[in-house]
Order: sequence, then structure tokens, then C-alpha cells
Amino acid sequence: MSLSRKISTLFIVLLSFLLIVIIYSIYKLRLIENEMNEVAYIDIPLNQIMSEVEMIQLERHILFEQFKLKEKLPKEKKTPHQEFVYQKQQLKLLLDKAVNVIAENLVNHKIRFERHEHQHLLEVIEAYHVQSDRFEKKLAEAISHESIPSAERYQLEETSTQLESAVNSILQQLDEMTFEAGRYAEKHEQEFLFVNTALGVCALLLGLFLTIYTIYIFRQRINKIQDGIQNMDFSIEQGYPALGKEIFQVDGPGDELSELEQELMLLMQRLTKEITNREQVEKQLLQMVTQDKLTGAFNRHKWDEQVLLHLDLARRGSFFSLILLDIDYFKQINDEYGHQVGDQVLQNLVHRLSTGLRKTDMLFRLGGEEFAILLPVQEASSACMLAERLRILVCQDSDEGLPSYTVSIGVTSYQEEDTEESVFQRADKALYQAKSSGRNQICQI
Ligand code: GH3
Ligand code: MG
Ligand code: MG
Repeated sequence: MSLSRKISTLFIVLLSFLLIVIIYSIYKLRLIENEMNEVAYIDIPLNQIMSEVEMIQLERHILFEQFKLKEKLPKEKKTPHQEFVYQKQQLKLLLDKAVNVIAENLVNHKIRFERHEHQHLLEVIEAYHVQSDRFEKKLAEAISHESIPSAERYQLEETSTQLESAVNSILQQLDEMTFEAGRYAEKHEQEFLFVNTALGVCALLLGLFLTIYTIYIFRQRINKIQDGIQNMDFSIEQGYPALGKEIFQVDGPGDELSELEQELMLLMQRLTKEITNREQVEKQLLQMVTQDKLTGAFNRHKWDEQVLLHLDLARRGSFFSLILLDIDYFKQINDEYGHQVGDQVLQNLVHRLSTGLRKTDMLFRLGGEEFAILLPVQEASSACMLAERLRILVCQDSDEGLPSYTVSIGVTSYQEEDTEESVFQRADKALYQAKSSGRNQICQI
């Protein structure tokens, strides 16, 4: 899966979570709004009615007490019956208002809590009205008599108490019902706050976790690639470029980073190939520049370089010896056996000389059948001994089917104030002496 796809998946997870939070919030807010509406349109009017009912109830209570005590009422006041009728009407008006509010909202389904209790309350109010009408009639009858019989008076008192407790019961029920919606609204508000805070914290933690996780994964992968690049750099520096597979992980999760790893691996492989090719070319070029093609000995170019180098070292306290060597009557070999055999003799000579030399000694073909051997840190005496050993090595019978041949050798050592020419001329002079003294011998100057 690509990185952009991974990141968008993580974002979709986070957004889905936030969407759930939003949907929950909308649902909860709608619920609370409905409850608040119920409080505003039903409970508040009912509460107002209730307080007015309580006032009338109180007035009625006082009135009935006055009636019982047969106190004289002020003339301008109405009779107890008139007053009761007036209060009854007022009470009916208020209770009808309450009934209207409840009935209307029941029909509109705005009342969601305790619908059954609301319904029941309507019936209770209806029953109260019937009872109240009956009391009114009895009161009118009692007042029309001069004196009220005690049994009738007792009955009136009892009915009045019943009416009072009926109203009280209505008020209590109204109170309980109006309390319910407010209580639920408060409960839902608390729930809303709690759940939303919890969900908000969860969303934050989830977002934080996803971000940290993404950064961690990216860092890990990038570190791996950086390590790969460092290893690659190190291996190139060491001259052993490693193969890409050893450095980069190619079986990664197939995203942009693994594509990058693959590209780096391919680049590394190309680089390895390039470096190997270049090294081979460099080696070939170096051989071409420094080696004699026929024999494999160092060539004149290398000779010039090495003589100057060892002269320089000798001037600083080191020393060296020089052997100059020439095949005797080589022209005759060419003439007798052909040029090709002559070439083979040259190759054979280099091979034989190499077996008698140390690793630090250097063999040069200066031209034709003339060779030089540079012996670093060797005095003349040991150079002479080596020259003699080489002479004997060369003149041994050949078992390679080649004609036998000998060499003449001139030996010299570094002397103060020597130049390239002076040291060479001395060795050449020694060689000339060996030739003129009968060949197949060494001469030292
Ligand atoms: P001397 O003992 O005095 O050194 O006699 P010489 O015959 O060895 O010396 P001379 O200088 O007269 O002859 C050298 C010959 O070497 C002449 C030349 O043809 C031959 N020669 C030079 N380079 C090569 C080569 O690369 N291959 C072959 N086969 N012959 C070569
Ligand atoms: Mg010769
Ligand atoms: Mg020669």
C-alpha cells in the first residue's frame, strides 16, 4: 500500500471517529432541546398555574374558616357562596388551562415523560370538578337555612377537606411531573458533557497515537535507508562496493519508501558494476603504462619513475644497487631459430630472473634484450652475489625446448651526487666490461 494511501486510511479512521462524536453530539443536543422545550412550553406554564391554584386554595381555605366561625363579612364583600363560586370558577379556569396544556401536548407528542401519569391527571381534574360542583350545591343549600344542622355542617366540612386534599393531590402530581423533564434534561446535559469530554479526549489520544505511530514508522524506515546509504558509502570508500541486496531491504511493504529502497539498490548494483569495470580498466591501463607487453617486466616508463624515486630516497639516507643485464649473442638466436623463438627466450629470461628475485626487487626491460634490476636497500656485495646467482640461473640448460643462452651483467651501487644518468652510465660501463671480458660474467664498478 502506498504511503499516501496509508496516511489517508489513518485520516479516514480519525475522521470517522470525529463523525461519530459529531453525530452523537447532534443527537444528544436534539434530545436536550426537546426536554428544554418540554420544560419551557409545558412545565413552566404548569408551574405558573400551580402557584395561582395554590393562592386560590389558600383564599378558599380562609373563606371556609370564616364561614365556619360565622364571622360577619364586610358588606362590600360577596357572600361565602358567591365567593366560593367565584373561586371555583377561577380554579376551574386555571385547571382547564393546565388540562389544555397537558392535553394539547399529549396529542402533539411533546410530552415524552410519564405520559400515562399526565393522562391520569386529566381524569383526576375532571373528577375534582364534579366533586366541586356538588360541594357548591350543598353550600348553597346550607347557607339558605337560618341555622345549619351539625350533621350537615360536619359533612360540608368533610367535603371541603376532601376538595382541599384533591387540589393538593393535583398540585403534587403536577409538581412531580414538571420536575421529571427538568431532571432528565439535567441528566442528559451531564451525560452529554461527560461523553463528549471522553470522546474528545479519545479523539485527541487517537490522533496523537496515529501521528506518533506514523512518525515512528517513517523514522524507522528512513533510518534504515540512511543506514543503507552509509554502508554503501563506506563500502565504496573501502573499495569493495557491496551489492544492493545486502544493504537495502527489497521485500518491504511496497510503498514509496520501498520503491526508493529498490531504486537505491539498483543504483548500487549499477555503481558496483561501474566501479568493478573502472577498476579493471584502471588495472589494464596501469599495466599498459608500466609493463612490457611481451615479457611482463616493468617498462622504460616505470624505470624512469623508479630510478628518480630511489635516487630521491637515497639522497635522504637510503641506498640501492643496480644490475644491468644483456643476453649474449641474441642476434644469433634470432637468426638461427627465428624471431618467435627469440621472443620466447626473452619471456623465459624474465621468468627465470623473477624466481631469483625478492618481492621488493624490480625487473625492467629497457629495450631489445637489455634488462635492469633495481635492488632497494642492497649494498654492492649482496648485489654482486645476487647477480652471480642470476647468471648461473640463466645459463642452466633449458627444459622448455629453447636454445641455451647466457647473460653478461654489470653491477653498481648508489654513490653520493649520483644522477639518473651517472648511475646508469656506471652500470652500463660495468656491463660493457663484462661483454668485452668474454661475456657470461658479472662486472662491478
Ligand atoms: P651481444 O652479445 O654483443 O649483446 O650481441 P647481440 O647479438 O646480443 O647484440 P645485438 O645488439 O647485436 O643484437 C640484438 C638483437 O636483438 C637485434 C634485434 O633484432 C634483437 N631484438 C631486439 N628486440 C627484439 C625482440 O623484441 N624480439 C626478438 N626476437 N628480437 C629482438
Ligand atoms: Mg645482447
Ligand atoms: Mg643489447
